[in-house]
Amino acid sequence: MRTKLLRNLILPLGDRLFGQNMMARLKFLESAQYWPREKIISKQSNDLQNLIQIAYHEVPFYQKLLDDKGIKPDTIRTKEDLARLPVVTKDMLRESFPHQTTRKTGQKTYLVSTSGSTGKNFYVLEDSFTAGWYRATFMLELGWAGWSIGEPHLQTGMTLNRSLDRRIKDRLFNCHYFSAYQLDDLHLEAILIEIEKYNLDHLWGYPGSLYLIAKYANRLGWNKPLKSIVSWGDTLFPHYRNALESVFHTKVIDTYGCAEGFHIAGQCGASNHYHTHDLDVIVEYLDERNDPVPYGRPGSVIITRLHPGPMPLIRYQVGDIATPKSGMCSCGRSFGLIKSIQGRDTDVIFTPDGNRLIVHFFTGILEHFSEIDSFQVVQKDINSILLLIVLRDNSDPTIQQRVINALKQKGTGKLKINIQIVDEIPLTKGGKRRFVISNLSQNND
Ligand SMILES: [Zn+2]
Repeated sequence: MRTKLLRNLILPLGDRLFGQNMMARLKFLESAQYWPREKIISKQSNDLQNLIQIAYHEVPFYQKLLDDKGIKPDTIRTKEDLARLPVVTKDMLRESFPHQTTRKTGQKTYLVSTSGSTGKNFYVLEDSFTAGWYRATFMLELGWAGWSIGEPHLQTGMTLNRSLDRRIKDRLFNCHYFSAYQLDDLHLEAILIEIEKYNLDHLWGYPGSLYLIAKYANRLGWNKPLKSIVSWGDTLFPHYRNALESVFHTKVIDTYGCAEGFHIAGQCGASNHYHTHDLDVIVEYLDERNDPVPYGRPGSVIITRLHPGPMPLIRYQVGDIATPKSGMCSCGRSFGLIKSIQGRDTDVIFTPDGNRLIVHFFTGILEHFSEIDSFQVVQKDINSILLLIVLRDNSDPTIQQRVINALKQKGTGKLKINIQIVDEIPLTKGGKRRFVISNLSQNND
């Protein structure tokens, strides 16, 4: 009843009030996700052509980009044609922002700041219509997880100062909002008490915070299964997933989006792969020479957002690495597939022998040390890393040497590993956990 009322009356009314198109867009996506693949590609190409026309005629940055290459906008008709355009980096957009990179949409616009992985601030301009698009896609993902609009859920997050519209949204959607900054025993217990008290079936938030909730629940001997767990905003490591799924007896649905105003992919639950949102974005995966990587190989994620909005993003280098996958999913949705999403490409450790170590390198090895509670790798120069480790109680004093041996065996080569045992790993300003911080790759960005 509540779901119906929200879907058919209250939210469409809200859309009209805020000048967005969320519910109509959601309805469209719910049906279009099952279109045949060719129909999705054809819609994607149409939207791309429209996007290129708008960007060329209304945004000087893109006009110059095409003119400099001697490319006529009407010759960019498909995903394959896009490859003729240069890759657009954050730095390129930052230099020309806002006069050269934005356009008028007739709607009120607002600035969104993303600190991203580089620590440098990056701004994009959005309007309500754009927000309606990505919110619809997020709601689609929540539907994949088994949530119906209005079902009570617990969300951990960073926006503690709930503005009036957020408070209205929380009430309407039945959201019990908790801080992901405070994850000490007391707060974890409060979260679990809330889930029990209100009989909440759905738990959402950053993977790191959800993992801590699962670990604490396990300690308490938790036995209430949940219906959905949805994660976003960070890397969902395999040991996070395992802990969450075994404690709460449901699949974790991980989603992959960007603070720059679009969702890229989400899991449907049929497998651990991700579906790309092919009606929102065109996703490319490129190697160091900006050539497409084959299926099964990791590549830098390049996004073209099909909705132009006040700041079109065409061949935009997100700064992540993901591995595309071929084939179709058993769930029947025709969207493309991502096998896995690796750590941020700025968070890669370089060794003097030329090896590159992504975050999974460290998690894959260190997760086998039960003595290790958490860790962080910091690289300031090419020859060495500092590995900060938080240990559990009663640890074996030989741990340091055993960790070094294990890392060396797997590929750190001549890299010198300094280990420091610490009490705590600090979170970033945005409250996120970073496992690997490389000052080298930041400088190269
Ligand atoms: Zn699927």
